[in-house]
Amino acid sequence: MLTIAIQKSGRLHDNTITLFKECGLIFDNGGHHRLKMQATNFPLQVLFLRDDDIPECINNGAVDAGIVGENVYKEKNKKLQIAEKLGFAKCRLSISLPKQKSYRTVKDLNNLKIATSYPNILRKYLKNKGVKATIHEINGSVEIAPGIGLAEAIFDIVSTGSTLLSNGLKEVEVVMQSEAVLVHHPKISQKKQQLLEKLLFRIRAVNKATNYKYILLNTPNSAIKKISDILPGMKSPTIIPLAEEEWSSIHSVIREDDFWEKIENLKKAGARGILVIPIEKMIL
Ligand code: ATP
Ligand code: ZN
Repeated sequence: MLTIAIQKSGRLHDNTITLFKECGLIFDNGGHHRLKMQATNFPLQVLFLRDDDIPECINNGAVDAGIVGENVYKEKNKKLQIAEKLGFAKCRLSISLPKQKSYRTVKDLNNLKIATSYPNILRKYLKNKGVKATIHEINGSVEIAPGIGLAEAIFDIVSTGSTLLSNGLKEVEVVMQSEAVLVHHPKISQKKQQLLEKLLFRIRAVNKATNYKYILLNTPNSAIKKISDILPGMKSPTIIPLAEEEWSSIHSVIREDDFWEKIENLKKAGARGILVIPIEKMIL
């Protein structure tokens, strides 16, 4: 059986559970104060832990794999392997200063006291940039450190920047981008490796599907060529004749990120009655 550790509660928890469900996994109900749960239709056990403890638990073999933010993976610096980036819990880790402080280059951080919950990532970054600063490690509420005179700068997670703004801080250096990742021990048995591959296959199918949409549209036959060029599809678009002569329906798949541009081009090319439908799973 494969054992995976996930966050007990917090920003990673719900998305992880949703992802498992979308992968078709069904779990026994471990109760409200559960420590673990077991899939009833896959040889998988899920352990609930604090995210900070997950890398060490994988490292010492207590579990085979886990889902954490890249920031935690990097901070803990264990010999783990990233199997897949999962596309949620996207954030960045940045250095911020009180907004009235002038800042031009990274050298301006010399001799400052920087508060953070990520001392290892920060130490590496500063060393790399040749900056000598003092790192003050605190857990939680890092953003209030300058306000209460605990530090002159902070290094912390930023998503929208609104927390920084409300604490009178400005972001001056982005040190890393992060998202949730599935990590595993570099050496797991062949049997477990196979189970992990099976799970990864499902995760990739689910995550791919969220990046694509299924599109159906009607077109006069004279515009089929032009429209097919805009919509290459997975292999090539499906073309089905309509009951009305000289008209066809085209079915294809488009990427979410260039969605609006494609729609505009399709309309210009003569497409009518465009329907766009979410895809649940996508296997290439
Ligand atoms: P735990 O109790 O498990 O130690 P925590 O308080 O350390 O939880 P959370 O705040 O739940 O952690 O964040 C978990 C992870 O989610 C972070 O390590 C980071 O990768 C990501 N994350 C944190 N804040 C944000 C945010 N504002 N937007 C997006 N992702 C975030
Ligand atoms: Zn944590």
